[in-house]
Amino acid sequence: MGIEVQDLCKVYDNRVRALDHVHLEAEAGVLGLLGPNGSGKTTLMSITATLLEPTTGTVRVDGLDVRKQKPEIRRRIGYLPQDVGLYPNLTVYETLDYMALLYNLDDPKDRKQRIERSLERLNLTRLVDRQVQTLSGGLRQRVALAQAVLSQPSLLIVDEPTAGLDPEERIRVRSFFADLARECLIVLSTHIVADIEAVASSLAVLRFGKLRYFGTPEKLLQSLQGRVWMVAMPPGGERPQLGEGFLETGLYREPAGIQLRGVSDSAPCVDAQVAVPNLEDAYVWLMTREEGAVVA
Ligand code: ADP
Ligand code: MG
Repeated sequence: MGIEVQDLCKVYDNRVRALDHVHLEAEAGVLGLLGPNGSGKTTLMSITATLLEPTTGTVRVDGLDVRKQKPEIRRRIGYLPQDVGLYPNLTVYETLDYMALLYNLDDPKDRKQRIERSLERLNLTRLVDRQVQTLSGGLRQRVALAQAVLSQPSLLIVDEPTAGLDPEERIRVRSFFADLARECLIVLSTHIVADIEAVASSLAVLRFGKLRYFGTPEKLLQSLQGRVWMVAMPPGGERPQLGEGFLETGLYREPAGIQLRGVSDSAPCVDAQVAVPNLEDAYVWLMTREEGAVVA
């Protein structure tokens, strides 16, 4: 299984250019799509799931064209939209059974087996008789994921699966993806950098529909090696004088006091210390750079 996006543009009827000459590809593992709201993540996923037509360019899923081979593609994928609606009155089992019927899983024995397997994977077996409306947000998200993997897709597309979850639930959902990525390709969108850090084997960063980075997270971090600095904040809290071109990426409370962190080509002041780059630094840096995609 692989996806291949070539020179993809999407212009909506209202002339919003949601995707602007995007190129990327993925074969295995988790491809993380990272970008702020409105950067084109959902548009890219909907096109890949054959729910939206590209304006120009091509997208292939397992070698199949999203314009011409929709049914063949749909048979291979699971898609979890950003705001998935579940029927509140159905139980967890009924929800999966209903979805399985929509997927044309008509053989009762096969359907039962698939449902049980999905429930096990998401650790939901003990909740089969609970009504969906009695579940927490995180558990509902797990039910939604269980239904997305019912057909045992070889590509799973999930749009912002961790949005709105509390930290504990978010970790659980992430570990499910890490586990599932051993058998299917996952494309996951998020605006949360820590999601990428946890699970993505490759990374596409979008901004205003343009690709700002495509490659591995490690390569992105390497490109910032030696350019991330920590500067101690003086006790009064006044900002130190820093060299021009210092891009602040965060404030950290350390045992030695508050540290200002940021990216700069050279030391921003005499007592600045080089720090190991993290994805938060890289993301802030990518978002502020001018035109021209950074493609590893
Ligand atoms: P993201 O998922 O990263 O938040 P979207 O793909 O939803 O981004 O949106 C990208 C851009 O396209 C935004 O400017 C959004 O307002 C616009 N957009 C999204 N869907 C539509 C639509 N159906 N019609 C017109 N514009 C849209
Ligand atoms: Mg979106």
